[in-house]
Formats: sequence, structure tokens, C-alpha cells
Amino acid sequence: MKDKALPVWPQGTTINSDGALQLGEHDVRALAEEFGTPLFVLNEEDFRGRARAFRDAFQTAFAEIGSDVDVYYAGKAFLCTAVARWVIADGLRLDTCTGGELAVAARAQVPGAKLGLHGNNKSDFEIARAIGMGVGRIVLDSLPEIDQVVRAAKHAGRRVPVMVRVTTGIHAGGHEFISTAHEDQKFGLSLADGSAMRAIESVLSHGDELDLLGIHTHIGSQIQDSAAFVVSARKLLELRAQVRERTGFLMPEVDLGGGFGIAYTAQDEPVDIGALARELAGSIDALCSELQTPVPRISIEPGRAIAGPSTVTLYRVGVVKPVTVDDAECRVRTYVSVDGGMSDNIRPALYGAEYSAKLANRQSNKLKVRSRVVGKHCESGDIVIPDIDLPADIAAGDLLAVPATGAYGRSMASNYNMVPRPAVVAVKGEQARVIVRRETEDDLLALDVG
Ligand code: PLP
Repeated sequence: MKDKALPVWPQGTTINSDGALQLGEHDVRALAEEFGTPLFVLNEEDFRGRARAFRDAFQTAFAEIGSDVDVYYAGKAFLCTAVARWVIADGLRLDTCTGGELAVAARAQVPGAKLGLHGNNKSDFEIARAIGMGVGRIVLDSLPEIDQVVRAAKHAGRRVPVMVRVTTGIHAGGHEFISTAHEDQKFGLSLADGSAMRAIESVLSHGDELDLLGIHTHIGSQIQDSAAFVVSARKLLELRAQVRERTGFLMPEVDLGGGFGIAYTAQDEPVDIGALARELAGSIDALCSELQTPVPRISIEPGRAIAGPSTVTLYRVGVVKPVTVDDAECRVRTYVSVDGGMSDNIRPALYGAEYSAKLANRQSNKLKVRSRVVGKHCESGDIVIPDIDLPADIAAGDLLAVPATGAYGRSMASNYNMVPRPAVVAVKGEQARVIVRRETEDDLLALDVG
């Protein structure tokens, strides 16, 4: 079943002899029975294999040009203690952006030196906590934040490693709200108006408190080719050369951020990570020769491309309702309601993200009909997939599987309509274990202090 035309299922996904979807060793019917629905099923080998593939591809390509690479897994895509431990065990580092993500890292005993902290509005508490953990780097996002971190560093009596986040004007990726390096947005310090250079000079003037590692940019998300990464690398390397000319200081590191695209549907063509790493290494080598600067240490921050493809959401189908959408042509659309929706996957409603789905508990040879997969929430925009062909006999009690939901699904989940958030079960070989348990109504009511 896993063919090149539809690379949207985790590795090892098949159809078993009963016609049910099989995730590795696990029949989805048994998973749904044991753990309930909606359910995120994460294939641990798939997740960790992608993490190691990033590490290997980038480290190999950059070793060729005499440089080294740190891969920071962007925890915002999906974070829990199991995931934090996996990425560290697999030789990656962990990128966080809130006190809560730092708390997960602390509970997972991630060494502070392997942590990065991002964020456009970090609190004093978050900064102090990160410094207290011995954070490997804080990515500075604004001029006032420089003073904030200087104060915290003085208070802690530590010199804090920092990077400066630069907005290069480059805009890449699928949707405006997930594109973060063009100028009219909240992140980073602008290259164009000179605030990036001002920030770098200010950091250098606080050498007792701040250790400037380098510059960072993140140009967007769901980027499907290498061109934008090459252009943004050029902008950062030019800035690095200018800083050396102006101040004599050569920043040792350049971080190219995350944003590597994945396949959500058969139409998506994700970048080949090995080819991208080689192309970037080649371009950076050439640019550094042109600028007569040594090649810097590189870091990247993939989130989606590690977590996304590893996970499938299992929903139980409820009401199936034919709705006449065009009287004149007697056109009907079948609304297939599932037992989750925008509370476990906000991306379609938030920015029109596209997904595919499959009837998962059986095979059907019935004709496929024009359908829409909707959730159970009190919003007509609670749509998981607006247009999809599903078998005409899909009915209440069936299971529907939606692939590629590992990134920004559970991590963006909400309790809208007082719906408890789903569990995440990791499968590996014959083992299926809960890594994030399902919320209960008691969990929700525990917050309501009356
Ligand atoms: N790094 C930064 C600074 C980000 O803002 C993000 C996502 O918003 C990422 C990394 C991860 O992006 P992705 O999950 O698309 O790889």
C-alpha cells in the first residue's frame, strides 16, 4: 500500500488480510478498541528514523565542506517527555519556545546545553528558567529582549549564549500565516531597516553577559524546495561578513531554521532531505569563498518533517448525512461526521491545510462518492477534509484514518466544547504504549474552581 505516489502513511503501513489498515504490527481496529478514539497513533521507528535521517544527511553533507551541523527538533510540532528523550538519544537537540516546553525538557532530563529557547515575547520567568537550566542558546527576537537577557544573566551570574533572529524578507511556504521571515510580521529583527545589525552590535557590547553564537532565521513552513533556503543562507552569510567588516567579530554559527515540507496528500512533493543538505552545503561553501569567510557551524530546526509523517489520527465515524448542495443539478455531498475535529486538528480551519483520509477498518468495493469529513464541534467551519471521495457505504461505527497528523495536531489541540484531548499511543514492533494519556472530564473539571 505504501507506494511512491502516495507517501503519506508512516513506514510499515499495510492493509491486512481482513482489509483493515495495519500500522506496523497493529490492526487499527484493535488500537481503537483498546485506546478509544479519536486517537493519535505515532510510529516510533518512523519518527526516530526521520530524526536520524536529518542528522545524518546534514552532518555528512557539511562534513564534506569542513563544517558541522546541529539539528534542533522543533518541539512545538509535538512534544512530550518520550519525544524529548528520543531526540536527545538520537543525537539531536531540542528547540523550545515557552516555559511549558522547558518544563517538559526538564522532566525528560534533557541536558540544558542541548536546549534552545525561542519566542517573540519571552517572560522574565522563562528566560530565568532557561538560564537556570544552562540553556545552550537563547534566540533573541527584539531589542528590548537584549536588555531583559542581560539583566537575567547578571542576576544568574552567568554568561548566556545567544543568537540574533533576523528577518531576511524571504517568504516561503504554503500559507501566509505560516510564513515567518517576510517583514510585516512579529518575529525577529529586520535586515532591511538595520535593526538586525543594531541588535548584533548591542549584543557584542554586552560581552560580559552575552556570548554571541551567531544569527538565525526561519523563513516559513511546509517549504517544498531548496531555493528559498539557499537565498536565506546567502542573506545571513552576507550579514555575517558585514559584521566581521564592521566589528572584527566573526560569528561562529548560522541557523537556517525549520520549515521543511512533507506530504499531506498525494499532490505534495516533499523535499529530499539528502539532496537538500548537499545542495545547501555546496551553496554555502561557494558563498563563503565568494565572501572570503570561513564556513560557519550550521544549525537547523525541523519540526513537521520529523513528527508529521509518523502519526495517523483514528476517528470513529458517527452521523453520515447526504446533503443536497446544488438543487438544479441534484448534486449531493455526503457529510461524514467523526468523533473529533477542530479540537484535535485545527490546521484545516486555521489556514486551509489539506489532508487525505482512508476508510480504515475494512475494504469497500462500493463506488466512491463526493464527501466532506467534519468534526463534532459547534462550528460549521469544523471541517477536517472539505472534499474527498469516500466509499458510498461508509457508515456509523467505521474507522477513518487521517495520515500525517503528527505535527501541530496534538500540540495545537484545544478543549473547545469541553472535549477532552485525545491520547497519543506510540507503536513499535508489537508494543503499543500510551505516551500522552487521554484527557478525562475530571481533568477538565479539575480546572474549574467554581
Ligand atoms: N524554528 C522556528 C523558529 C519556528 O518558528 C518553527 C515553526 O514555526 C520551526 C523551527 C519548525 O518549523 P517546521 O515544523 O515547519 O519545520
